[in-house]
Order: sequence, then C-alpha cells, then structure tokens
Amino acid sequence: MSDRVDVIVIGGGHAGVEAAAAAARVGARTVLLTQRRETIGAMSCNPAIGGLGKGHLVREIDALGGIMGRAADLGGIQFRMLNRRKGPAVRGPRAQMDRRLYASAVQQAVAETLGLEVVEGEAAALVFSATGVEGVRLRSGEILSCGAVVVATGTFLNGVMHVGHTQAPGGRVGDTAVTGFSEGLSAAGLRLGRLKTGTPARLDGRTIDWSRVEMQEGDETPVPFSILTDRIENPQIRCGITRTTAETHRIIRENLDRSAMYGGKIDSRGPRYCPSIEDKIVRFGDRDGHQIFLEPEGLHDPTVYPNGLSTSLPADAQEAMLRSIPGLERVELFRPGYAIEYDHIDPRGLTAGLAVKGIKGLYLAGQINGTTGYEEAAAQGVVAGLNAAREVAKLDSVTLERTDSYIGVMIDDLVTRGITEPYRMFTSRAEFRLSLRADNADRRVTSRGLDWGLVDVRRGRLYAEKAAAIATCETLLRERSLTPNEAERFGLTLNRDGRRRSAFEILAHPEVSFQDLCRIWPEFASTTDSVAEQVEIDAKYAVYLGRQDSEMESIKREEHARLPLDLDYGSLAGLSNEIRQKLQMVRPETLGQASRIDGVTPAALALVLSHLKKATPLQTADITPQLRSGKDSLP
Ligand code: FAD
Repeated sequence: MSDRVDVIVIGGGHAGVEAAAAAARVGARTVLLTQRRETIGAMSCNPAIGGLGKGHLVREIDALGGIMGRAADLGGIQFRMLNRRKGPAVRGPRAQMDRRLYASAVQQAVAETLGLEVVEGEAAALVFSATGVEGVRLRSGEILSCGAVVVATGTFLNGVMHVGHTQAPGGRVGDTAVTGFSEGLSAAGLRLGRLKTGTPARLDGRTIDWSRVEMQEGDETPVPFSILTDRIENPQIRCGITRTTAETHRIIRENLDRSAMYGGKIDSRGPRYCPSIEDKIVRFGDRDGHQIFLEPEGLHDPTVYPNGLSTSLPADAQEAMLRSIPGLERVELFRPGYAIEYDHIDPRGLTAGLAVKGIKGLYLAGQINGTTGYEEAAAQGVVAGLNAAREVAKLDSVTLERTDSYIGVMIDDLVTRGITEPYRMFTSRAEFRLSLRADNADRRVTSRGLDWGLVDVRRGRLYAEKAAAIATCETLLRERSLTPNEAERFGLTLNRDGRRRSAFEILAHPEVSFQDLCRIWPEFASTTDSVAEQVEIDAKYAVYLGRQDSEMESIKREEHARLPLDLDYGSLAGLSNEIRQKLQMVRPETLGQASRIDGVTPAALALVLSHLKKATPLQTADITPQLRSGKDSLP
C-alpha cells in the first residue's frame, strides 16, 4: 500500500477504532494501522462496558454514530442499569461482555465501514514536513503518507509490566511494547509523563466453589446501549459476589514490600478511583473486607475476572491471597495480575478538537492523553477522527461542549486542567448533570452528528422520528388539563388551589406516572416506552432545567469569545507571574476555557478581555459586563 490516504489512525484499541470509523464515516479515505489485526477491539482489563459516567459516554458515542454501543449490545451477557432507584441523571447503563463476542462485533463493524482499510504493522515514527505531519514510518521501514494522523497507542508506549519485582516490557499481556515512538512525540514538542494502571489475576471458573458466593442477576429486561438495537439476544448470566477476609488482608500486608506498587519499583501515578487491592488495604484498612465481583469473561469461556482485586503482588502471594477468599479456596489461576507503566502526553498541549497545538495534521486520542477506560478512549476517538478528517477536507475543527455532553466535559477537563492521575469519567465532573443524562444522549448530540456527516441515514431517521414523537406528545400533554377536583376523580391528589393544570404539569408531580395519564387520556396509551420515558423525565425535570438554562447560556457566551493561540501573555501588564505562566502553558482557545484553569481569577480574565477588546472590539463586547461584576460562573 503506497497511495497517499487522508487519515492514518495508529492503534486498533477503543480510541483508534472509533477514530478510524468516524474519519471514514465523514468521507475520509482512512487506514487503521495496528500491531495485530486480531486484537482490534480487545479489552485489556475488565470485561465490561459502561457504568456511572462511562455509560453516558457510550450513549453519546452511539448517538454520534459510533461503534461501541452496538458492539456492547452484541457482546453483552449481563446488563444492569446502575443507580436505577436514583434520579435519571445519575443512572448508568453497564453491561458485562463476552470478550470474544465484543471484539468480533467491533471487528465486524470495522470491516463494514466503507473507506476504512486495516493495515497490520507497527508505527515506528511520524514523518514530518516543514509544516506538519505527512505520514507514518513503519517498523518495517515502509512509509505511509497521509493528510493527518491520529495517534491512539494506549498503554503501549514504552510499556513496562510488573508482577512483584519482576519486570518485562509489554503493551499489555501478550503484546509487545512500542519503543522509540514517544521520543519522536517529545522531539515534536509534546510534554510526556508516566502513568500506571493494574489488572487482577484471571481465574479458572471451574475451580471456584460457586455455592459459597452470593449470585447476582442482571436486569430482567436488559436495556440496550444503542438506539439501533431492538433487544438483547444473548443469553444472560449471573455474577458472583464475595469478600476479602482478615486473612486476605494479613497476606497482603505481609507481602507489601514485594508489590511493584509498594516496593518502590513504580513511581508513576495510578488511578485513585480504581485502586489496587494493596492500595485499598493501605488506604482504607480492613474493617469488614472488600467486595469482589466474580465476572465470567464469556458464555463459553471458563475465565473469571475478579473485579476489585487489581494487584502487582508476586504470583505466589496473589495465589495465597485469592485462596483466602470464600469460594476461591481451591482456585487455580490462568495468569497472575500485573501493573503496567506507560508514557502519556500532557493533554494541555491539545486543542478541544484533540489536535496537537502548533503541529498541522496531528491528533491524539485515548489512554495516551492520560485517561483510563475503554469508554473515555472511544469517546475521544470519535472527536479526534472527525477533526482529522475535517482538517484534510479543509473544514474547521469542531468540538463538543461542557453544556451538551460528557464528551465535552472530559475533553475540556483534559485540555484545560491536564491530569495528575489517570482520568476517569464520573457524573460528578459535569456541572449540568440534570440535562446531560444517559437517556437523552441522542437528543443532545445526534443533530450535531448529522450536521457533521457522522450519523448515517438510518440512525438519523430513527432519531428524527423519536424527536418528533416526543414533541407531539408534549404538545398534546400541554393541551390536556384538569382542575384539582377533576384530578381527584381519577385518584390523583393535587394542591387544592382551584388552578387548572396541564397534563404536562401534572406529570411533574413525583407520584404521577405516564401510565396514570394514559388511564385519564387513553389516546396516550399507544406511546412507545422510549418516548414515554423521555416525556416523563422532561416533565419531572422541567422546573430545574429552566434554572440551568441561564447558567448554560453564560458559559456558552464565554466559550464563543475566542482567544488567539499565539496571544503573548508575557506582554499583558497586570497579570501575576503564576497566571501568566499557566496561560502561556495551556494557551486556552476560549475565554471560558481560560476561566477554568486553576488559579485564573476573574480579574485576570478581565485584563485578557480588555486586551482583546482593543484588538477585536465586536467579538468580545457582549461578555464584558459579567466579568466586570467579578462573577465567575464556572466551578
Ligand atoms: P488500547 O486499548 O491500549 O489500544 C492501543 C492499540 O494500539 C493496541 O491495539 C496496540 O496494539 C496499538 N498500538 C500501540 N502502539 C502502536 C504502534 N506504534 N503501531 C501500531 N499499533 C500500535 N481501564 C480502566 O478503566 N480500569 C482499569 O482498571 C484498567 N486497568 C488496566 C490494566 C491494564 C494492565 C491495562 C493494560 C489497561 C487497563 N485499563 C483500565 C485501561 C484500558 O485498557 C484502556 O483505558 C483502554 O484500552 C484504552 O484504549 P486505547 O484505545 O487508548 O488503547
């Protein structure tokens, strides 16, 4: 293959697959270059997709036409809606995967994507012209030329795996590390760092005494991730739940000095929110044991993933520790757990479109940007692949914003604040949780995806039909009404103020359901479940969402005040040295982004703004009053 293509994506992990598919969907001739074709869609760690915050990302990826949601529906063997009893804003769809089914669904989706070719090989270096990136040099020496590159190399750059004090180079178990590539990124001006993460041992499920562990079912009716999935066809399995014991904790404490994490072998930072079992024992003590989920890795695979037991203890200590846990007394290990250290780049060197600032045609996505998790990686992939293709097509870069999506929240956090530990998505990271829900991802981002050409006709049609049905239903509900007396005749108790309320207002009451309205107005009985769900949530949240709108508007105004990337903050009189350095390093793209950099005060923003106003009076005039009042509307 020697023809020049539009976009080359390096890495067939979760970020790379979405990046390549997104670029191809918008019409770019795309190559997905990856070390091994058979590992496309491989899950390096836990066999699950979604969860709190992460499930929101999967729904957004799907709403933009991405692969992950559909693949998870085809690979899922236990679906659970987390936080089901809490409000819709914090519910998180999660599903455990059959690893093989998931990977094969991803591979199938890649194969079916028009304009996307998979090339097996290892990228040794980027090839630069005087103006930017123009290709990729393979380890074999071959050069592939292109208009833009997306680097999505995961945990592979200078990866080192640790089991106890034994180290070996590797990108993950069974895959070789990539050496030399990071050095090229560093030479191109990117700041590099080291991070670590870990994974538990894999167990032979046939040696687990399942009668000694509690069994957990999935949801009776699995809710798919993708709008394109009618229902889940796979048989659904149960998982086991057990706990660590005082003996487990004793073994871990006794062996702490042999753990790579605690024996001084790994200095880099690991995920605080996904700690190793050594971490948990040291940080949280051993009061009543730690819960362990025993998750089968497939329908016809005896491998079991003990979720909650990530470790880098030596293999003998891992075995002893595991056998001290109820149900695992005679367990055999397929392989021990391990920790991995790898290079990442400082994401503050990226634009909100995931392009490297100052280098034409270079985009980065996934774990290399300091995140952890399949969903975080995949979500970045969509944005990076889309923008790489747009650059080649000479179109402006596009972004998602904090006000419209978790993808926007994540990318803004990364490029504005950088990371001090592997970044993982949580619902608490979003200011506007009430509107950024997993259930309404399509209503938030699909129309933008359609504008960008990311979303295909079928998905676009389903979305338009659903949106129209919701709008019609809500209009009708606003036209139907009852007085408190009339409501009482139907068994509904409303405030006895004599006021006639619309059916939509009545639905806002916590104890009134859509079904109640169907009893009163049978015309609504034919409403589909998904439309009824949205209408009911809209009604219940209407008051709160109204309050959020004005705050969202002020953020949007700040986001539209663009700051030139080459603004010389050194020449702005009145800024403190600390703030000047932070602005110089991050080079925010908008005033809103500048306001979210730690330590940047409203006064400093007013200074930047007054400088800009001199240069471009019209662009920034409308946001001055808010800054003058000293109100920093952003957390
Ligand atoms: P990856 O999935 O790592 O994929 C990278 C791909 O790029 C691979 O296919 C690789 O072959 C290819 N590649 C790399 N370099 C080159 C090159 N130069 N040329 C060609 N191809 C290349 N996540 C969690 O959320 N929780 C956890 O507890 C957790 N634990 C983990 C433990 C371990 C040991 C590992 C390895 C990962 C863990 N992860 C965890 C992270 C999770 O696997 C990643 O977040 C996710 O896979 C990142 O996706 P990605 O697409 O960025 O990279």
